[in-house]
Amino acid sequence: MSATILSGRTTRDALIPGLIQRVKSLGRAPVLAIIQVGDRPDSTSYIKMKKAFGERIGAEVRLIKLDETVPQEKLVKAIGDLNTDDSVDGVIVQLPLPGHLNRDTAIEAIDPKKDVDGLTSVQVKGWETGDEKAVLPATARGVMTLLRYYKIGLAGKQVAVVGRSMLVGKPIAAACMKEKAIVSVLHSKTADLAAETRKAEVIIVAAGRPNLIGRDQVREGQIIIDVGINTVKGDKLEDEVEGTKLVGDVDFEEVKDVVAAISPVPGGVGPMTVLSLFENLLDLCEN
Ligand code: NDP
Repeated sequence: MSATILSGRTTRDALIPGLIQRVKSLGRAPVLAIIQVGDRPDSTSYIKMKKAFGERIGAEVRLIKLDETVPQEKLVKAIGDLNTDDSVDGVIVQLPLPGHLNRDTAIEAIDPKKDVDGLTSVQVKGWETGDEKAVLPATARGVMTLLRYYKIGLAGKQVAVVGRSMLVGKPIAAACMKEKAIVSVLHSKTADLAAETRKAEVIIVAAGRPNLIGRDQVREGQIIIDVGINTVKGDKLEDEVEGTKLVGDVDFEEVKDVVAAISPVPGGVGPMTVLSLFENLLDLCEN
């Protein structure tokens, strides 16, 4: 039997009217400011997606572009200016930054009240401790919303989270614990990944390794959320965009007839992340 597809696109489209209503009730366009240092094409395309989504719900996305060689003090000053600008509700420093810049210093410079990515130490402490008002990083929020939309409860379930980064794996694990799941966090030093993932009822993979989860790592009846986004060489003509295609961390073809439900890549967690970012922005405006 084929797995149920947990579609981020369907879920996002179903939730957009609620966001539009929240913007209407706010009575003004919420403003998200994004600082981009340099010109990385992947960052530019993520920013484009945020802009397009903002337009769809009536939010304004302001892009502040800084030169690739900008010194740390200038970046911190630009963030400080946005902190004190009353017309700005949320601030993002688009990651990754060029090597000469310190990412933690930049993030800490954001006013926690405008930290829409939930990465300042104030917000991290909040989501780590399960504070209702904390800003949960958008990908983690998106994963939780996707599960909720498909009525997949986590309380009492064995959940394996593969990946433990501050941006993705850790907040997902924290959010699952808040839902009273029994969480194991797996990573590059996990000795027998397959043994651990097979024990779980829900696997959430955020490792950035194509095909990390295949037939050997899963068993029947599991629910799989694939957070990974990897660009690999295209193998079929129809998949190819300039010779490459996007895949997740799960070998979709290998597991789709085994597991009970799976989120695809593309069209799974990706669309949920953008939606959740704007949910975070609206929360900041309303609180
Ligand atoms: P990082 O590289 O920061 O973290 C990767 C994590 O995966 C680390 O904890 C690492 O372990 C673990 N890992 C790496 N290799 C293995 C392995 N062989 N077995 C088990 N664990 C492993 O990446 P991010 O957390 O930033 O991103 C993860 C993925 O999610 C990427 O593909 C990224 O593109 C994607 N992503 C998707 C988003 C979306 O909206 N869908 C949004 C953001 C990211 P260790 O800690 O031991 O090094």
